[in-house]
Amino acid sequence: MRSLVDTTIDILIKYPLCNRCLGRLHANLGRGLDNAERGKALKTYIIMELHRRILEGDNSAPEILRLLAPNIKFPLQSLLNALKISIDGETLNEMKKCFICNDTIDEIIDLYSKRIAQHILETARKSFLIGVVVPNDILERENSIVKEYRIKYWESIKRELKREIGKRVQQITNVNVDFDKPDTIYIVDLVHNLIKMESPSLLIFGYYLKLGRNISQNIWTKDHESKKYPLSIEDAAKYASSIVNANDVALHIAGREDVDVRVLGSGRPLVIEFKNPLKRSISLSELENTLNNFSRWIKFRIVMSVSREFISRLKQSASTSFKIYRAIVLTENPIDSNKIVELEHYFKGLIIQQRTPLRILRRKRDTVRRKKVFSVKILQLAPNLFEAFIKCEGGLYVKELINGDNGRTSPSFSEFLGTQAKCLELDVLYVHEYI
Ligand SMILES: [Zn+2]
Repeated sequence: MRSLVDTTIDILIKYPLCNRCLGRLHANLGRGLDNAERGKALKTYIIMELHRRILEGDNSAPEILRLLAPNIKFPLQSLLNALKISIDGETLNEMKKCFICNDTIDEIIDLYSKRIAQHILETARKSFLIGVVVPNDILERENSIVKEYRIKYWESIKRELKREIGKRVQQITNVNVDFDKPDTIYIVDLVHNLIKMESPSLLIFGYYLKLGRNISQNIWTKDHESKKYPLSIEDAAKYASSIVNANDVALHIAGREDVDVRVLGSGRPLVIEFKNPLKRSISLSELENTLNNFSRWIKFRIVMSVSREFISRLKQSASTSFKIYRAIVLTENPIDSNKIVELEHYFKGLIIQQRTPLRILRRKRDTVRRKKVFSVKILQLAPNLFEAFIKCEGGLYVKELINGDNGRTSPSFSEFLGTQAKCLELDVLYVHEYI
């Protein structure tokens, strides 16, 4: 394995690099240093080592020093004089610019941190976060060195810029970086040489209810124009986005139901993300009212504003949560009332094996799920019609639990009753989440 010093000599013979860009190639080695210090330390050590080799009669060392001289970007003149090594003066005076950043990185950090700091002080921001857009050619040059020398402990220039600008702004302003809920996000765009300001998303946790059928979660368009379903939860969120002056919305929902399934009772939990809102302080009840004004078929209960980390917990909870459904079931043959009682007993605590339903096989991989039915309660409405209340694990396909999906779901109501059962109507009554 080659030493850090030998690799660095190889790199510097071929590529001129500033202290930061050299140090960044080994950014994860050594702690409590910045990359400029790493780079300077490596260069200093290399020069000292070559000096020692020359003093001890190593014949190849003067040549290495000569090759490094135009690229190492380190004061060498007095050493060369002392060693009586003559290098064409021009070569030394015109040290080449850094291969990766063209000698701009320190200037970038300095310039942008001062401008951002000034804005923070002038507008009394309470916290901030830095984002950076780096031109592709810089990223490509950095990557080419990383690949060529199989560098392992590097970090990207993007990361360094974010951190160093953030650090510098913090020093000047005494205002802290906040990764979770920053007051303002400053995007340093080095492609266009400007600073963009963004407001972090407002994330609002609540529940939605679908009081009618054929309502989708997101807007579905058929041919990029006409909507497949007239109403969606997203439509309502978009409608309400005007009260925070957001330019877009996204929904984060734990699980989904078919469009023809109503969501009643306590509703399904969701986080509405309002992107880049100009207004940040809002009354949650005002937001709830606005959402509820959108349509009589879609209702919301807004609970609180949350952090981004909450979304992943909400999504994880979908597969471990339990749900209560109400289904109207029609059977081909009439069912004896004793058989109904037996069905309730049979399915209590039963694990159901489900291969991916035929109706969604186009979209999803064919796998087998095992989900538990906790309990079933049935109210018989007619000899071949009953209302079933099903409490089950999240992720169970309820329509298939009823109809059996040609044997792909087993056991099923059809299988147990010995006659084809069909789910006419389905409603979600309760979604329990473990957040
Ligand atoms: Zn550089």
